[in-house]
Amino acid sequence: MLFLNMDFSQAINQKLDLAPFASAKISVHLKREDLVFPLASGNKWRKLKYNLAAFKESNASALLTFGGAFSNHLAAVAALGARYKIATVGIVRGAELAHKSLNPTLATCQQNGMQLFFVSREEYRQKEEGKTVLGLKKKHGTLYVLPEGGTNALAVKGCTEILTPEDVTFDTICCAVGTGGTLAGLAASCKAHQHVVGFQVTKDASIPDRIRTFAPHENWTLVQHPLHRGYAQVSKPLVAFAREVLQQTGVLLDPIYSAPMLFQLVQMIKENTWTFGTNLLLIHTGGTQGIAGFNLRHGLQWPEE
Ligand SMILES: *Cc1c(COP(=O)(O)O)cnc(C)c1O
Repeated sequence: MLFLNMDFSQAINQKLDLAPFASAKISVHLKREDLVFPLASGNKWRKLKYNLAAFKESNASALLTFGGAFSNHLAAVAALGARYKIATVGIVRGAELAHKSLNPTLATCQQNGMQLFFVSREEYRQKEEGKTVLGLKKKHGTLYVLPEGGTNALAVKGCTEILTPEDVTFDTICCAVGTGGTLAGLAASCKAHQHVVGFQVTKDASIPDRIRTFAPHENWTLVQHPLHRGYAQVSKPLVAFAREVLQQTGVLLDPIYSAPMLFQLVQMIKENTWTFGTNLLLIHTGGTQGIAGFNLRHGLQWPEE
């Protein structure tokens, strides 16, 4: 593991003083994972750490993975590939993207040396069995393949390192949920008196089973917001909310994960439907690399620092 040369400190827990929390007598802290690993979007570094080590121990010639056009996962794999001198290949959903200029996420991936292949949605669904991946395997020999979103057992192991011994004081741990890997790591590593609440950003029905594969106890709950469903969902109130939070707390949220999580938490507290604990730790999983692409795509002005 020495090659990773991890001189990162642990993330700080920042108290979030928003008016609805005070009136409901709920204490909320935000774990600033976004600040510790700016290169690789908070939880993506956690998810890649042991996979990168496994790659180094394997005889694979490159690390191949999958993602959408604005994927934080692709961005993280490319950035860490550049830093640790690992050849990376990205299979990107959307054959039509091959003929467009690269969006900020993909342009950075390419600058970081990631080889990009754009495939149809149909081929993308075939994942490792798709003809592009099969062709690459023939050409390059062994490839280390990571699933979309990077969730596997080693990724979950990395996410068990998010919580520290000091975090036992919290009764509830909250995170945003894409594939569920981060939540699984939190659920597997938290204490018996703690409960994990995951704010789901997609309708993906496979998430609970995936979490159960990696987390031994039913100490977690998923909640879904009626408005913020799907990676590409936009709402003006969400943008206004993110601006308010930035002004009041100095925290830059990302539009896909951390902002919808906090927005929904505030909603639930205001509506009196929050039935979990009163001493909360929210994980800021990063994702701010996606802001430039989000603004371009939606013609919006997400607040920036
Ligand atoms: C990928 C990602 C998530 C979701 O993580 P999963 O382990 O896939 O559930 C949350 N927040 C950010 C910023 C991400 O990039």
